[in-house]
Amino acid sequence: MAFLHEAYDEILQRLAGSGATLVAVSKTKPEADIMEAYGAGQRDFGENYVQELVGKQASLPEDIRWHFIGHLQKNKVKYIAPFVHLVHGVDSISLLQEIQKQAVKHNRIIDCLLQVHIAGEETKFGFDDAELDTCIKTIQASPASFDHIRIKGLMGMASFSDDRLLLSKEFNHLHTLFQKYANLLVWNGQFTVLSMGMSSDYALAISCGSNMVRIGSLIFGEREKRTA
Ligand SMILES: *Cc1c(COP(=O)(O)O)cnc(C)c1O
Repeated sequence: MAFLHEAYDEILQRLAGSGATLVAVSKTKPEADIMEAYGAGQRDFGENYVQELVGKQASLPEDIRWHFIGHLQKNKVKYIAPFVHLVHGVDSISLLQEIQKQAVKHNRIIDCLLQVHIAGEETKFGFDDAELDTCIKTIQASPASFDHIRIKGLMGMASFSDDRLLLSKEFNHLHTLFQKYANLLVWNGQFTVLSMGMSSDYALAISCGSNMVRIGSLIFGEREKRTA
């Protein structure tokens, strides 16, 4: 187990000029590591399994802002609805409807990012450009149906690749979409978050307009592969 203090400080320094938010991705990592990062002042943490997130949230400090960064199944929304700070991976209208339903039940507004499929690979989740447009038009047409959801912006994952040109192309594409939709009246000026960039590509993502990065292995060390 590990919290890599020097690497953490270096990331904060590199982000300082940009004003970007750091989400420390703690998936698979023990609570002790999270508490070390917490002791260093970190408050935003990202998890991608509902069960793991719920367990950690119950035993860790209440002022942690928990980001759900994985693929969220509709039948699991209810477990995180009471406390989740930001859902990064919304990739269907029906998921949005379920989040709305659970948010009403818990008398909360739940902040969400729409996930866009920007990588070349088939395996990554998210809307393609046309689906994103349809989703946004659906919300615009019926804002009352989504009145317990705040769409805060967009999220995306670039290709798993070392090709900087390809990565910057994908990041720039997401940034262009972000700008295209940012000023719609329906958002009330709250569409301000562009979540892109991970350990291997966060500096590039920032240079392409990201203002929220999700970094795991640089801060906590490499992860074991999940057995489940
Ligand atoms: C695991 C994960 C990250 C962090 O990955 P690292 O390469 O460890 O920084 C970021 N975003 C998502 C969606 C993830 O699942």
